[in-house]
Amino acid sequence: MISYEERTKDYADKISAFKVKQKLPYEFKKRYAAVRVREFISECDKRGLNYHVSVGGLDSITLYLFIKSLGYSDVVGVSVSSLEDKSIQQIHKEIGITSIKPYKNKADIIREFGFPVLSKEIAAKIELLANPSEKNKTVRHAIVTGETGEFGGFRKNTRMKLAQKWLDLFGGYENENENVNYQIPNFKVSSKCCYYLKEKPADDWAKEHNSVPFLGLMASEGGRREKSLMINGCNYFGKSTIRSAPFAIFTRQDLLRLALELEVPLPEIYGKIYTDENGLLQTSGAQRTGCSMCGFGIHLEKRPHRFDMLRQRNFKEWDFWMNHCCKDEDGTEYGWGRVLDYIGIGWRDEVIDVNANQITFYD
Ligand code: SF4
Repeated sequence: MISYEERTKDYADKISAFKVKQKLPYEFKKRYAAVRVREFISECDKRGLNYHVSVGGLDSITLYLFIKSLGYSDVVGVSVSSLEDKSIQQIHKEIGITSIKPYKNKADIIREFGFPVLSKEIAAKIELLANPSEKNKTVRHAIVTGETGEFGGFRKNTRMKLAQKWLDLFGGYENENENVNYQIPNFKVSSKCCYYLKEKPADDWAKEHNSVPFLGLMASEGGRREKSLMINGCNYFGKSTIRSAPFAIFTRQDLLRLALELEVPLPEIYGKIYTDENGLLQTSGAQRTGCSMCGFGIHLEKRPHRFDMLRQRNFKEWDFWMNHCCKDEDGTEYGWGRVLDYIGIGWRDEVIDVNANQITFYD
């Protein structure tokens, strides 16, 4: 069996080899992506698997059209389109993406389980603290103290511990058990939104069609999957997961350049692709999109943040989500505004940032 040290070294080697590839010229990376696509499809054929592109925003729309441009004109693109911005939904329709439905609606998920805020991992930890059981006792202790207890080999200072600033705000569920004095929010937090809206419908579709996905992920975008992309590479055939991420070594510049080359129809939310004063490609509207009204990563964004942007685009919708999507037992309506106030993120005041986004606010 491979030792811990050997595995760590293997990972470190893979990560540095990956970083070298990320710095190679665009033309190389584009050819490299094409080779990975062909390899993946041929391996799927051997295994009797179908394949599809999991489509969301610009990155995966570009991937879908890239794979088509390689001669796989019948590749299927699948999306839970209704979660995307209207302008993205429109492009999905134009390019023939198969739309699947989420299993619940977002407002119901928020009411039933709680707000998806900070990050998937943090929200899941807070959700555990708020829903104590005998079974999750050890994990809760680790989340508050970093100590794994008997079952986790008595390790201390593990990464299970919530960052102190989040413990201060959300750790109060464990005040009595841990003899601490943290706060409890007056709203629920949950990581279940992704599961019901995206993951489960997409997994079920894939199972039903015996199909494995191409994903438009790029390690340069960071996030949860950065490390696994670096370690597992573009094509991954694991025991429980099979996927291809041909753009794994791409940077945002590579992606935008390819989008221009392929004449990808740009959803309105991105504005236009232009070259800035430093010679870098940019989109004049949103740089990235995701589901609207999602709080994952909101604490890392500068203003105007995604909620400000929605305010500009659709004041009525913004008002519903910020102030009215939930109700306290006494009938008081509230929404994301309460969550943002609690974690110290501004949203009530008018923010004007011209920065090519032509923000105009209503109040
Ligand atoms: S990204 Fe956010 S809003 Fe979208 S499904 Fe996941 S948690 Fe929900």
